[in-house]
Amino acid sequence: QFITFEGGEGAGKSTQIARLAEYLRGCGVDVVTTREPGGSAGAEAVRHVLLSGAAEALGPEAEAMLFAAARADHVSETIEPALAAGKWVLCDRFIDSTRVYQGEGGVEPALLAKLEEVAVGRLSPDLTLIVDVPPQLGLKRLAGRDSASGGSERDRFEREALTTHANRRARFLDIAKAEPERCAVIDGSRKPDDVAAAIIDIVEGRLGP
Ligand code: C5P
Repeated sequence: QFITFEGGEGAGKSTQIARLAEYLRGCGVDVVTTREPGGSAGAEAVRHVLLSGAAEALGPEAEAMLFAAARADHVSETIEPALAAGKWVLCDRFIDSTRVYQGEGGVEPALLAKLEEVAVGRLSPDLTLIVDVPPQLGLKRLAGRDSASGGSERDRFEREALTTHANRRARFLDIAKAEPERCAVIDGSRKPDDVAAAIIDIVEGRLGP
């Protein structure tokens, strides 16, 4: 099974991916956890370019193509081989992040759809968990993470206005509404244990153990 996690900054996706992976492994499932941009050697190299600021000179279309290039490599080198081997893949961000983040740069939806088609082919997540938190809370969590890590984890995408984060949240929720059979929205503002339990319920209900 292929499960993607989506949501804004500070939603707690990485914590929840680790929790779900631990749970599934306890059930005897072979699990691969991965992330975007990145998740394969080539895509991690592109991630460095995208998040370090080196890509700031690119226009939004070129940047979207870089994200797509990273995704194409990630899909063919990591995701598809794992799925073919019968593993479950838990992925931190996937196509919905592109629809939301690259979409806000003014890239035409038709170009984004084309890039998605080239990068992922017919692959589609079996389940997309949209971890939803109010932007104020997400940013507060990031600020905590920052002071703990000396700020090194902050990247250029995270230094943005609250309204930008609120718009992204609304667009993730729009996607969930438009594709309810693929997506589920999780209230990520609760304690990590409660969020993890809610996610397990959804995974069991939709995909079986
Ligand atoms: O998941 P995480 O927050 O670590 O993602 C790293 C950054 O990459 C995020 O801040 C997000 O804004 C950005 N990103 C993006 N477009 C994507 C995926 C991630 O702008 N398709």
